[in-house]
Amino acid sequence: MTHAPLPKNRDGVDQDQFLTILSREDALARFEAALFPHPVPNEPRRLADALGCALADDIVAPIDVPPFDRSNVDGFAVRSADLASASEAAPVRVMLNDEVIACGTAPTRPVLSGTATSIATGGPLPRGADAVVMVEHTQPAGIRAIEIRRAASPGQFVSYAGSDIARGEALLRAGAVIGSREIGMCAACGIAEVSVARKPRVAVISTGDELVQPGAPLGVAEIYDSNGAIVTAAVNENGGEAVFLGAVADDEEQLEAVMRKALATCDMLVLSGGTSKGAGDVSHRIIARLGKPGIIAHGVALKPGKPLCLAVCDGKPVVILPGFPTSAMFTFHDMIVPVLRRMAGLPPRSDAKVAAKVPVRIASELGRTEFVMVSLVEGEGGLIAYPTGKGSGAITSFAQADGFLKIDALADQMPAGTEAEVTLFTPHVRVPDLVIVGSHCIGLDLVTAPLSRAGLVVRSIAVGSLGGLAAAKRGECDFAPIHLFDEKSESYNTPYLGDGLELVPGWRRMQGIVFRKGDIRFEGLSARHAVGAALADPACIMVNRNQGAGTRILIDRLLGGARPEGYWNQPKSHNAVAAAIAQARADWGMTIAPVAHAAGLGFIPLAEEHYDFALVTARKQRPAVQAFLKALASEESRAALEAAGFRPVQPSP
Ligand code: AMP
Ligand code: MG
Repeated sequence: MTHAPLPKNRDGVDQDQFLTILSREDALARFEAALFPHPVPNEPRRLADALGCALADDIVAPIDVPPFDRSNVDGFAVRSADLASASEAAPVRVMLNDEVIACGTAPTRPVLSGTATSIATGGPLPRGADAVVMVEHTQPAGIRAIEIRRAASPGQFVSYAGSDIARGEALLRAGAVIGSREIGMCAACGIAEVSVARKPRVAVISTGDELVQPGAPLGVAEIYDSNGAIVTAAVNENGGEAVFLGAVADDEEQLEAVMRKALATCDMLVLSGGTSKGAGDVSHRIIARLGKPGIIAHGVALKPGKPLCLAVCDGKPVVILPGFPTSAMFTFHDMIVPVLRRMAGLPPRSDAKVAAKVPVRIASELGRTEFVMVSLVEGEGGLIAYPTGKGSGAITSFAQADGFLKIDALADQMPAGTEAEVTLFTPHVRVPDLVIVGSHCIGLDLVTAPLSRAGLVVRSIAVGSLGGLAAAKRGECDFAPIHLFDEKSESYNTPYLGDGLELVPGWRRMQGIVFRKGDIRFEGLSARHAVGAALADPACIMVNRNQGAGTRILIDRLLGGARPEGYWNQPKSHNAVAAAIAQARADWGMTIAPVAHAAGLGFIPLAEEHYDFALVTARKQRPAVQAFLKALASEESRAALEAAGFRPVQPSP
């Protein structure tokens, strides 16, 4: 294979190489070419600590297993020739030798013709014996004698020495990944220590002034460092030994010190964040000073993951993953895991693939290979792959996906109905028992809790009320939770149902005005007066809701055509409204009572929103659907919903 020449690497801030965006395949090929062949050092490990390691050398069995001929049953060691005529009608009487061979007892007396020796399962066969009869096929016959009611073939109930593992046999091959079964084979041969490929030590560093480690309190404008934990776990999952060095501020000097120290003791460096050309993004400048050849690729035609930076510094891979968690996770699995596994002496990961139909059109950027995380559900004609995308900044797009599909760099979309190949994150698809697609509500988690406890897999995909309704009409889910207000009939949900769908009443969510407790502009007022007060104060900022939200209709009615400051700030969820007010980016808005209370905000009730379920009638008899309906109607759910601030409606039987 030939490659274009590597981009020149100069010290300092020269960034011309970042203008060269490589294809995913090209970037990976260059990265591997700069890194391999790479020595895989071996180390001895105690058997118990070798789990997941790759074996460095072939293992030849040093002994026979079992080491001696042994009995498989509790009974009597005999000479089979003595019993040729034995039957129920004519049992054969033999004398008992004066010993009992328990496990771990060496026999001392031979079994001569006409005799037998009592032997336990696992006991060594005595000299002269060639078979064992089960105690059940014998009976006592006077002093120190038994009668045997069945004939025995030679070798009956005997495991011969070496029949399991023969001395000198190749037990395991170099490169084998050590699991519990491999550990068992070594233990049976008495092997206490094995030589394995040393796990590459991988330093994991998060970068960013905004990062806080889980467990510590979150300050203003700060976020938790999720990449550190994700990458650490993913390194350990793929044969490396992660050394997490925490989050380092966007400070060139400080970061360089940490990176140099890490390179001195580790085999590989994985950073995340700071890969763009922003003022605070300094890691790539440092890499240029860390060793040859330096940066191999900075910018890959990949989505998610364009800002990925791959480097090799004096033989050690140094990687900067994008800061956005989904991009970081995806590029790590796609581009870094193959390299890590090779360094760990492990075979390439074998990904299972399934075919699935894409129910909605997926837009894609021309010129970048795009990977779309999907959630799989069972449809009428096979599997259906729902994009779980919330953007690459979201953690759940990856974590809640079953796998991903690929959209070619030359395509600008994947049309609805495409049969796509989905690469799974796990070896097998676990198709959910119950599929709920639509608007999400924390009340839903309370109702499905008993189903999950009963072992049913519930998949809830949040696509909003209208998206859920469309999925239900296509028969892709069991239920679509919806809260759609019809202005013409002034009623919720029922007008939106079509053929094949029926309404299952859910619960009511009180909507009202939210404000920070103690704000005297609103305390003690009715909703109408509160809005009047807000409109009268030019310094008062509202937060609105998106077009199409039931809450938005209520807000617009209350405003009666007014467009106060903040009207164009239109987040898509109840939680975002509460956060804006709690953080004083806005002063008032409308949300539901449980969300307002959870955020510690003041609340003026206005009207109840109906959160119901569009049930796909054709799926009504499925056991998981019945289980859901039962759970919904249960006292337990009602109590939990009420405690959370919802008003349950008894579903019609
Ligand atoms: P950056 O590439 O550093 O500009 O980061 C891009 C985005 O990813 C920003 O929103 C960062 O806050 C976020 N980000 C960066 N590092 C992390 C991390 N370790 N955990 C979670 N989010 C991160
Ligand atoms: Mg950053």
